Amino acid sequence: MRELEELILKKGKVLDGDILKVDSFLNHQVDVHIMKLIGKEFANHFKDKKIDKVLTVESSGIAPAMFTAMELDCDMIFARKKKSLTIEDNIYKSTVYSYTKQEMKEIMVSKEFLHEGENVLLIDDFLANGQAAQAMIALCTQAGANVCGIGIVIEKSFQKGRKILEDQGIDVLSLARIKVLSTSGIEFVEE
Ligand code: 5GP
Repeated sequence: MRELEELILKKGKVLDGDILKVDSFLNHQVDVHIMKLIGKEFANHFKDKKIDKVLTVESSGIAPAMFTAMELDCDMIFARKKKSLTIEDNIYKSTVYSYTKQEMKEIMVSKEFLHEGENVLLIDDFLANGQAAQAMIALCTQAGANVCGIGIVIEKSFQKGRKILEDQGIDVLSLARIKVLSTSGIEFVEE
């Protein structure tokens, strides 16, 4: 997606350890213009899959997931990382290794909001080694919901996440695919 690649080149900052910082439009401040385009792209690609629900992980997945759900006219649910007092024990949970924080975290959703037979579209801000995606898939598996695909805003294609998901037969749509990420420049996969 050209507009997204341009924004990454203009505003992204490369940090040590293969981390791209995009706080100005995705991970802290949210650029509503690009978010609208992102929602439309994902919805357009997955519209024939009869999506019942969009699932993401808080907090950075929420903005793209919300715009996608609006386009698909369905509900969005975000897995929580902290157990809220209002969530009782009626939960599905799985663990994820946080790439940016380098720690294990539990994510959870209430059983009330993820159901057997539902068609679920997963959305996340980044795809690196596929851990967050695997944890979302585990939640769907526990619920008996169908994973209909995954939409990723920025894929770091030099890491193994895409391969792991494709090997499971999952339809992965990434709107920007980074081939090279270094302080001297960013290069995208040519589609
Ligand atoms: P994975 O689970 O695929 O290894 O990593 C994806 C998760 O880690 C995303 O949910 C995202 O929050 C975070 N992440 C991975 N790489 C980056 C990065 O380069 N920049 C930012 N901002 N987050 C990342």
